[in-house]
Amino acid sequence: MGQSSRRRSIAVISHPDAGKSTLTEALALHAHVISEAGAVHGKHGRARVVSDWLEMEQKRGISITSAALQFAFEDVVINLLDTPGHADFSEDTFRVLTAVDAAVMLLDAGKGLEPQTLKLFEVCRRRGVPVITFINKWDRPGLDALALCDELEQRINLRATPVTWPIGEAGHFQGLLDARTKDVTLYSRASGGATLADEQHLSLDAARTVVGPDLDEALDSLGLLEPLDLDSFRAGTTTPLLFGAALSNIGVQQLLDVISELAPPPSARVDNDGTERAIAAPFSGFVFKMQAGMDPHHRDHVAYVRVCSGEFQRGMIVTHATSGRPFATKYALSVFGQARETIETAYPGDIVGLVNATNLAVGDTLYAPGPAVTFPPMPVFDPEHFVTARVTDLGRSKQFRRGIAQLEKEGVVQVLTSEARGDSVPILAAVGPLQFEVAAFRMEHEFNAPIHMEPLSFTLARRTTDADAQLLAGRHGIELTRRSDGTMLALVRDVWRLKTLQREAPGLVFERLSAVS
Ligand code: GDP
Repeated sequence: MGQSSRRRSIAVISHPDAGKSTLTEALALHAHVISEAGAVHGKHGRARVVSDWLEMEQKRGISITSAALQFAFEDVVINLLDTPGHADFSEDTFRVLTAVDAAVMLLDAGKGLEPQTLKLFEVCRRRGVPVITFINKWDRPGLDALALCDELEQRINLRATPVTWPIGEAGHFQGLLDARTKDVTLYSRASGGATLADEQHLSLDAARTVVGPDLDEALDSLGLLEPLDLDSFRAGTTTPLLFGAALSNIGVQQLLDVISELAPPPSARVDNDGTERAIAAPFSGFVFKMQAGMDPHHRDHVAYVRVCSGEFQRGMIVTHATSGRPFATKYALSVFGQARETIETAYPGDIVGLVNATNLAVGDTLYAPGPAVTFPPMPVFDPEHFVTARVTDLGRSKQFRRGIAQLEKEGVVQVLTSEARGDSVPILAAVGPLQFEVAAFRMEHEFNAPIHMEPLSFTLARRTTDADAQLLAGRHGIELTRRSDGTMLALVRDVWRLKTLQREAPGLVFERLSAVS
C-alpha cells in the first residue's frame, strides 16, 4: 500500500464528558499494543496500561492533548485530530473537520445526541465527512439500543447500520455480537470498572449455551436494521454503529477495524477553480489552525497544515499561495502539545506544524514548486458570542487596529463594525467565548494594546442584504454590522426575536453564514 492510501485521518466528535479522552487513549494504546507487541489486551490491569501510555508519551513525545496524534494500526496509519471541547470549544473545533476524511461520533449511552455533538455533526454532514458512531459507557445503565438508533434516524436523518450489537441492555452488558459474522465476544468484569475486561470469543452456537435470552433479543434487534453498506456510509446517509466501553477497552478493537477498513483514505482535493489536485501531485496543503504562543517568552506562531498531495520534506521551500512568497519549512513539527518533535517527512492525510508562521493565516494554501494550487478558503461558522472591544489607552490606537486586523486574519475572532459604534469600537464575534480571552491576551502582550471588552446580548448573526438592512434599521433586539469582506450581518438577540422578525416581514433575507460559505 502506498503511504497515502494507508492514511486514515479522523476526528472524534462528541459532547464534553462522553469519553473522548478515554477513547483517544484507548485507541492509541490498543493500536500500539497490537502493532508493537503483537499482543491483545486482556490480562493487564489499568495501571499497566497507564504506565505504557506514559512511557509512550515520553519516548515518542505523544500527548493526548496534542493537535494530532499519529499511530500505526496493523497496516494503516491513523491521524487522530483533536477537536477541543469544553471551554475551548471554538471555530477551531469546527475547522478541524475540514482536515479529516472521516469522523467518529461518540455518544454517551445514557444521553444519546447532545448539543455539541449535534453542532459538530452538522459540519460533518455539510462537508460530506462520513461518520462512524460509537456508543460509549455501555457498562452503565443507559438508553435502549434501538431507541438510540431511532434517535439518529429521527433527529439527524442518519440510518444506523450495526457493526456490533450489544448482548444485554446498558448496565447489564454481557458481550458484543458481530453483525456480519454473528460471532460473539463475551466480557467479564465489564461493569463500570477502571479495569480492562477479560474477553472470550465464541461462535453463535457456542454462545447460545452460555448466554440467556439476551442473545436472541440481540439477534432480533439486529434483524430490524439495515446491514453495513460502504457506499451509503461514504455518502453520509448511513453510519456504521458500534457499542462499547472505552474505559474498559470494550469495542475499541472493533472500532479500529472499522476505521481501518471503511474510513476513506485521503482523496484528491478540489481547488478554488474546481480542479482536483491529485494525491500524487507535488506537495500541497492548507492551514486549518493557527496557534500563537500564549507564552510571551515564546512568541511563536504555529500553523497546522493538512497535507493534501505529494510528499512533505522538512526544509523544502514552498510557495504561500496568498502572497506568492516563498516559505521555508525548516522548523516542522509532527507532534504538538508540550512535547514537540521534529518531522522529516509527511504524506497526504498527515498534519504538519510549521513554526514561525507569522505570515500564514487559517485557510492559506502552501505548495511545492510545480503547478500552483489554491484550495478554497475556510468556511465561516456562525458566531454565537459577541463583545465590543475598546483600546484602554487611546495613544495605542494604531497598535489596536493592527492587532485586531491580525486576529481577524488568523481567524481568532470575526471582526464586525457597526455604523452606530464606528470603526474604533469593533464588535468581536466568536463561536466560543474562550476566543475572546485569547484575543484580549494577545492584544495586551503581543500588540501592546490592552483592550476592554463588553459583552453584547446577541446570540446569533444572520447575513442580510443592504436593502433589507434599511428595512431592519432601528428595530429593537437587533444590530446591523458589516464584516471586512463587505457582508452585511444582522446580530439578533435570540431565535425568538428572529422568528418574530421573519413573521413581521416575511420577504427579508436572513441567511446563516455557514450555509453560504
Ligand atoms: P471527555 O470529556 O469526552 O474527554 O470525557 P472523558 O474521557 O474525560 O470521560 C468522562 C468521564 O467518563 C470520565 O470520568 C471517564 O472515566 C468516564 N468514562 C469514559 N468512558 C467510560 C466508559 O466506557 N464507561 C464508564 N462507566 N465511564 C466512562
